[in-house]
Amino acid sequence: MADGAGVSRCECGAAAGPLGVCVDYFHGILAEEQSDPQMYRWHAPVVCVHLLQHPSQAHENYRDGQFRLLQFYLDKGLDALLRLTAHQVARNNHRARSGYDMAPLEAYAPLPQGESPRSFRATLCGLPFRDGSFAADGHPAYGHRIHAIAEATVESWRSVEG
Ligand SMILES: [Zn+2]
Repeated sequence: MADGAGVSRCECGAAAGPLGVCVDYFHGILAEEQSDPQMYRWHAPVVCVHLLQHPSQAHENYRDGQFRLLQFYLDKGLDALLRLTAHQVARNNHRARSGYDMAPLEAYAPLPQGESPRSFRATLCGLPFRDGSFAADGHPAYGHRIHAIAEATVESWRSVEG
C-alpha cells in the first residue's frame, strides 16, 4: 500500500496499478478478450463493474440495468448470464452498451439513489497482469477475480442506501 509520489488515484478510489487506472485495465481486457473467447465469457460483468465503479464513464439510463445484471450474475452464475446476454444481443444488436431487457432482471434490487460509492474492495486496476495477460494463471482464476469485483461493486452500492 505504499503510495509513492505521482501514484494516481482512480475515480473509484483505488490506487493505480502498474498499467494505470481502471480505464487502462478495462481497455487492456477488451483488447485481450478479442483474441481469447474464453476470457470474453466475462465481458458483460467486466463492462458492468467498470461502469458502476466509474460514474463519469457511464450512461445514467443504463446503470440500473447494469446493477441488476450483476446481481443476476452473482445469483445465477456465468452460464445463466451468458444465456441472458445472448438473448439480448439477438434481440437488440445495434449497440454493445444498449439497455437490457428488464423482464428477467425485475426480481433484483434497483440501483440505490444517491451518490456513487467512493470505494470498492476490489477493482479492475487491482487485477494481476503477468506475461502480457490478465489470465496467465488460467481462466477459472480470472473468473474468480471478476466475480469478486462484481461482489464488491454490488456490496458498495448497497451500502449507500439508507
Ligand atoms: Zn477505478
